[in-house]
Amino acid sequence: MLNMMWFKTDLRILDNPALQAAMLSGPTIAVYFVSEKQWQKHALSPAKMALIVQQLSMLEQALATLNVPLIIQKTECFKSLPENLADFAALHSVNRIYCNQEYELNELQCERQVESLANQRGLSFKSYNDACLSDPGSIKNKQGQPYKVFSAFKRAFLKDSSRLLRPLSSRNNPQKAITVVSDISVLSEVEARIGFNQSDSQNLWPAGESEAHARLERFGDECIGDYGTNRDIPSIDGTSTLSPYLAVGALSTRQCLQLAMQRNNGCLEASGKGASIWINELLWREFYRHLMFDYPKLCRFKPFKAETDRLPWRHDVEIFESWVNGSTGYPIVDAAMRQLKKTAWMHNRLRMVTAMFLTKHLFVDWRWGEAYFMSQLIDGDFASNNGGWQWSASTGVDAVPYFRIFNPTRQSQRFDPSGSFIRRYMPELAKLDNKSIHQPSQSQALAAGYCLPIVNHRLATEQTKYYFKQLNNPSAVMSEEAGHQIHDLNKLSLQKQQEFMLE
Ligand code: FAD
Repeated sequence: MLNMMWFKTDLRILDNPALQAAMLSGPTIAVYFVSEKQWQKHALSPAKMALIVQQLSMLEQALATLNVPLIIQKTECFKSLPENLADFAALHSVNRIYCNQEYELNELQCERQVESLANQRGLSFKSYNDACLSDPGSIKNKQGQPYKVFSAFKRAFLKDSSRLLRPLSSRNNPQKAITVVSDISVLSEVEARIGFNQSDSQNLWPAGESEAHARLERFGDECIGDYGTNRDIPSIDGTSTLSPYLAVGALSTRQCLQLAMQRNNGCLEASGKGASIWINELLWREFYRHLMFDYPKLCRFKPFKAETDRLPWRHDVEIFESWVNGSTGYPIVDAAMRQLKKTAWMHNRLRMVTAMFLTKHLFVDWRWGEAYFMSQLIDGDFASNNGGWQWSASTGVDAVPYFRIFNPTRQSQRFDPSGSFIRRYMPELAKLDNKSIHQPSQSQALAAGYCLPIVNHRLATEQTKYYFKQLNNPSAVMSEEAGHQIHDLNKLSLQKQQEFMLE
């Protein structure tokens, strides 16, 4: 009898429910299917692809300490994967397949196909919840409906801690050596094709389960206590920066939660404490995963609030590219977008600021922003990214109300008061004083070779609020042309700025 562990986004040996179950039930081999086409379809960033490749190579070494060989196979896409996996199982005379579940729609469907093919071929198939702290679909209100408000979800979640999954307490013991040998030769070819040599993000997030744990411990020892005050300041290392490790499964959310509880006197909650505020963020991650599971339409480019699809979102490539390239004329937005390009990561406060700027100031379709973030982020994660975008665009569950629009200049003054973050990514503005760096005057901008604001905050946000208000009026015309009015308005505002708003 031979077992097969099918790795997906759970690239670790510790606290891995499927791996543990497989090894407890008999000799095990491991497999991972690389599908570059599928990665492209899901717009994975080169940084994330490179991290997966490196993490797989570290995983092979870690599995070798358990005498579990890892074989990396290529497959065309999710469609071809079930057949390839079943053939691989037959080649190695595998009897039982083990894996951890993924809850994204395509991934779920792919796994179901694997299961049905395995059953047809007389193989046993077992899958486990690894990606969530409690089983998706298990947290419902009295009417049996999923919670749509985070605070209510959290209350329900915390009320019954028995459903909370804890990290596995024991480590796997090495199995007796088996004749199958590891083969990860495919990786070098894939790595060469990704062609990713963005040294910044590789230095910032070296692969490895032990690296992830070292960072978790360091965060727990040095930063978690002040998380409540430091987490919003992008110029300092106030957050854990563990998201890339969570995204590839080098670390589990259970392991994070366990550390946070240890630093929180064993509690899940304690008002105002850094550790409990951090737990709150882990629960946002959990909330978005449960939503994605309960509402598959979220995986189909649909807004949670269906009526917001009537908004005349703009699809203007030129305006969008100003945002992408960090040339909107709003220093905090531009510095954040440059951080994303340079490091493949962005601070949470700035993800909110930039997402809201794209959707509420430029009124560009949130799906464009969502896709762009995914194509750049090393921690790209469908549920959290979609959740964050729909929150910012006010199209989602428990989203920011449409009329509460961040003023980017105020956000900058508040969370980057001395402009240290802006200076790091915008050397052209580095010499400006602490006041003007948030909103350079026209002459300062021109002297620095920096652009003027492409949109006027007040006019643009008023226009956006007007559109959202029209959603309550079923007879209002919400056409693409109506959407373009904002473009003209913004052009007008730029003229006005040049005439009398700046100097
Ligand atoms: P910490 O502050 O240390 O938090 C610990 C962990 O909690 C994070 O690693 C993350 O897993 C989770 N978490 C924290 N905040 C959130 C949140 N608001 N929503 C969901 N989970 C959270 N996170 C991703 O992991 N991948 C994404 O693709 C992603 N896209 C986002 C897009 C937008 C528009 C927004 C507003 C947020 C997005 N987030 C995403 C959530 C959040 O910005 C990142 O998880 C966080 O910045 C990662 O940094 P950290 O590990 O230092 O977080």
